[in-house]
Amino acid sequence: MTGSNAETAAGFAVYGSDQGGPFVLVSDHAGRAVPPELGDLGVSAEERARHIGWDIGIDGVGRHLAACLPAVLIEQVYSRLVIDCNRAPGHPTSIVTVSDGTPVPANKGLTPEQIAARHDAILHPYHARITQELDARVQAGRPTVVVALHSFTPEMRGFKRPWHAGILHNHDSRLAHIMLELLRREGLTVGDNEPYALTDTSDYTIPLHGEKRQLPHLEIEIRQDLITEEAGQKEWAARLARLLPEAWAQF
Ligand SMILES: [Zn+2]
Repeated sequence: MTGSNAETAAGFAVYGSDQGGPFVLVSDHAGRAVPPELGDLGVSAEERARHIGWDIGIDGVGRHLAACLPAVLIEQVYSRLVIDCNRAPGHPTSIVTVSDGTPVPANKGLTPEQIAARHDAILHPYHARITQELDARVQAGRPTVVVALHSFTPEMRGFKRPWHAGILHNHDSRLAHIMLELLRREGLTVGDNEPYALTDTSDYTIPLHGEKRQLPHLEIEIRQDLITEEAGQKEWAARLARLLPEAWAQF
């Protein structure tokens, strides 16, 4: 699941077609590819397959969702261990040297040139593609909702996370509150800014493409054990395909 050569060359993959729908789906952490010149980053394949390498299961959820909805999905194809596309350039956890206890030797002691090369090859093309999508829609006067898809590990530092999903929000919580309520009505345990809170510094994608542009937005986190297999991915995609239009209608 490392993406086609064309996708890894571009730094992103695009799925679905919007057919006039309002949703633009983005997956910052769906990818697992590593540029060939970085080898294996000095991290074993087993470690890279853990949650530190990517958002387990969110690729399947996003692609099924893009197929169920009229919506475009823009997916990052590189591992977050190469560079985290939900961090601003230069953020302390943009290119991590240790993640959840696992050292990433290839990220140690990088020169400014090496860091700039990762920005130019991976971070900037991905965000430029999202910007291009949003610009075109805004210019055409089309209603647009940015939906960021993520997944979270069921257990962190010994704490078993009770939430099935989480909705993260900060400056504009209108759509988040509607979606929280809709998900809770399904009988799910849904975190309100849990397991993470959306902030100006810990996130990049929603602050940049949603808040700064004043576009309605959602950041959705799904617990990884629910979407590890395709059946769970399809179940969550079907749920979101049903609830997103409902949330938008209530907005
Ligand atoms: Zn994520």
